[in-house]
This record gives sequence, C-alpha cells and structure tokens, in this order.
Amino acid sequence: MPVTPRADLADLPAFVPGRKLPGAVNLASNEVAYPPPDHVVDAITQAATGANRYPNPDSALIDRLAMCLDVDAGEVVVGNGSVSLCAQLIQAMCGPGHTVLFAWRSFEAYPVLTRAAGARPRTVALTQDHRHDLDATLAAIDDTTRLVFVSNPHNPTGTALRMQELVRFLEAVPGDVLVVLDEAYREFVTDPEVPDGLVLARSFDNVAVLRTFSKAYRLAGARIGYCVAPEPVAAALRKVYVPFSVNVLAQAAALAALDVRHELLARCAEVAAERERVRTRLLQAGYAPPPSQGNYLWLDLGERTGAFDRHCMDRRIVIRAFDGEGVRVSIGTPRENDAFLAAARSFPLAPVG
Ligand SMILES: *Cc1c(COP(=O)(O)O)cnc(C)c1O
Repeated sequence: MPVTPRADLADLPAFVPGRKLPGAVNLASNEVAYPPPDHVVDAITQAATGANRYPNPDSALIDRLAMCLDVDAGEVVVGNGSVSLCAQLIQAMCGPGHTVLFAWRSFEAYPVLTRAAGARPRTVALTQDHRHDLDATLAAIDDTTRLVFVSNPHNPTGTALRMQELVRFLEAVPGDVLVVLDEAYREFVTDPEVPDGLVLARSFDNVAVLRTFSKAYRLAGARIGYCVAPEPVAAALRKVYVPFSVNVLAQAAALAALDVRHELLARCAEVAAERERVRTRLLQAGYAPPPSQGNYLWLDLGERTGAFDRHCMDRRIVIRAFDGEGVRVSIGTPRENDAFLAAARSFPLAPVG
C-alpha cells in the first residue's frame, strides 16, 4: 500500500500569496514600500555572525515587547510571523469537531490553517458596507465554536470596528470562546474610535491580540509577529510552537525595529495620509472604496474585477484580485500610487459596448 497523507487534505486549497513581478509596481501584499532602516539592517548583519548558534527561545524580545506593551511577559508569545501564531492559536484551542469562526471574505490564511489543523471553518458574510457583521457572528457561535478571528482593520476591505460595537460584541461572546483580534494593521489606524485591542484584552479574559512586524515594521520577509494572550492560552501557544522557528536574524531585526519605532511609525502616518489622498482621487474617478484604516483600499468591482486586474497588469501594476468580488490595492510610495491612479482613471468602469 502506498503512503497516504490525511484524506481531508486532498481538497484543501493551498495558500495563495500575492503575486510578485520584478521591476513592477507591487501593490499586492500590503507591505510598506520602503526597505527597513539602516539600524535594522545592521542588526540583522550583526546577528548573522552568530548564526551558527540556535536562537534563544526565551528571547530578550519577549521582555522588551512586554515592557513596550505594558503587559506581563507570560502573556507574550512570538512566532514566525503572525500567520504562524494563527496556526498555533487554532492548534491550541481546537480539536476534531471544533469550529473556527471568521468573516468572509477575510485573511486568506484563516480557512487554510483551520482545515490544516483538522478543525472546521465557519464563515459569516460581511455587511453590504464591507464591515464585520458582529450580530451575525454572535448568532453563528454554537457549542462547537472555540475561536473567532476578527481582523481589525479588516483585510481586505480596510473597514474597522469601533470601541462601542466591539465591547458590546465581547460582552455577548461566551467566556469559553477565544476572540482573536488580528491587528496586523494597527499602526495605520487614524480613527480614534478604533480601539487598541490590548485595552480590550485587559478587560476580557477571552481576548487575544495578534500583531506583526511584517507591515508597519517593514520586516515581512524576516517573518516575525507576536501574540498577547491570556496566560493559559499563551502557555498553550508555547507548547505547540515548532522549536526554534523564530530565527536569530528575525529576533535581532525585531529588537532593532523597536529601537527605531518612532521613525517607522512616522512613516505609517505618511502612508495613512497617502491612503486618504488615493481614496479621494478614486472617489472622484467614480470608484467606491470604503473608508480604510489599513495601508490598502478595497474596490468592490464585482464582474469587472478580472478586467481591472488585467488592465493594471498591462501597466505592470500588481494588485490583489478576488475574481468576481473586487481588488485590494496596497498604498505604496506617492509615485507608485500615482501610477495606480492613472491606471484606474484609464479603466472603463462600465463595460464598453
Ligand atoms: C498581513 C497580515 C498578517 C501578517 O502576517 P505575518 O505572518 O505576520 O506576515 C496577519 N493577519 C492579517 C489579517 C494580515 O493581513
């Protein structure tokens, strides 16, 4: 008999990352367009001289993050990107027959990781205005639900939940269901009504917060993120951690990025201002991007999605297209954004003929 992988993996689609096209304007993966600061590159180079040694698992990074975030070190877990922490969260919370709940469309990794862990994904449609439907999410929670992912701001639409609605939601969620606030884009938020998840995590025993160095901290290629979770959950996350998966270079890069975080956050403010400029121009051109708190915009193009994507590709502009639904466009440098705006203006929004 041949070796046989798990039967339930057969129809599991692989995670599809944003396309990369050398020399093109890359607006597909919500990266910040600027390379890491010299201080960070120097720290990575320095760390490389010790790459013959295994990374220290109880890294200085955890203590540093705990200090920066004003939480206990026991509540902080670092991972090989927050995607890895998503997988750990599912593994730590779910066994066979358990359900993971999230909005759809949402972050591509949620369904794939849920099924890979042997749990069941259950999705809740976004509202007409591309927001989380918290009432429908509450209604979808049942005895099998162990974990709910709420990305805030939401990927891919950019919409964000505000304090009051989130508190009302968290008050209604059963205490044994873990709510994971995925705040990959927290640093681009400019609406003061959008809460810092860590504030909510202080008031609710069933809330974990996911953050990443991939976006604002410009280390997507170095793979490092962190989770702040209630102590028992954090302890379980460490148990399902693949040993040594946060490498020495990533740890050094993250520490150095924290050294220069004011510089990095100042750039995020510029990106957020660009987001507003691009959105205004798109509205003027007849598009309807919902208000975004991330470093990207959503265009609900429906049937025109494929044509719009090809139109951009022809101009060597790479965006993220979801066939039949819409496109997500990252905010790049002002020049890249102008190139995208020119492409959007020259696209026939209504089909010709
Ligand atoms: C980009 C993104 C992440 C970050 O993943 P990393 O593994 O840290 O690079 C996490 N969640 C969402 C919703 C994202 O869009």
